Amino acid sequence: MANAQKVKEVILAVGQVIEEKKLFLTQLDAAIGDGDHGLNMAKGFGAAKEKLEASEMATPSDVMKAVGMALISKVGGAAGPLYGTAFMNAGKAVAGKEDITLEDFQAMLEAGLDGVKARGKATVGEKTMVDALEPALEALKAAISNGSSTREALDAAVEAAGKGVEYTKTIIATKGRASYLGERSIGHEDPGAMSSYVILQTIADQF
Ligand code: ADP
Ligand code: MG
Ligand code: MG
Repeated sequence: MANAQKVKEVILAVGQVIEEKKLFLTQLDAAIGDGDHGLNMAKGFGAAKEKLEASEMATPSDVMKAVGMALISKVGGAAGPLYGTAFMNAGKAVAGKEDITLEDFQAMLEAGLDGVKARGKATVGEKTMVDALEPALEALKAAISNGSSTREALDAAVEAAGKGVEYTKTIIATKGRASYLGERSIGHEDPGAMSSYVILQTIADQF
């Protein structure tokens, strides 16, 4: 499915889409947080791009780890370290492999989600990125075990993440800044769930 060069291209595509959606993500965060999510993400992926363009990386794992480190070290706020941990863990899940398969992508998503949950102490239903990532993983797993094609499996994951974003509109935030709003957070999509959806959608579009 993807070697180091392809994974690098996918990450650069994600960075470009994040840059395009910077204002949109920041507006979502302005409604229930401090209005910097798009800026944080764009800064992080900008740093990741610099890192990826500065040196050749041999494996998908090396690429993912470099992205994770850039996100952790360059982004203030909650989401940078959470996504950074996700990318680092995803990289570790495929250590040493030259080429990753759809099953490897499932393992990466699972390791990434586990990292977010461990670091952020969030579970489904708290109005965070977990509400997009976990249903995406479940849908991907179900599709793979049903023998779906790569196309079908990736599309199912993206669709589930989108539904997860919609779901965040209906619930109260109990983690992160939006939790300060209590019931007033209802009616708004979670910015981190939205960025997770955007990232998954962009990844899926590259295959
Ligand atoms: P900050 O809230 O520090 O300004 P961002 O605006 O970049 O950081 O990111 C906010 C997003 O981070 C939220 O929309 C939510 O999805 C995610 N988030 C915040 N806290 C947690 C947590 N404990 N676990 C998982 N995700 C979280
Ligand atoms: Mg914010
Ligand atoms: Mg902030």
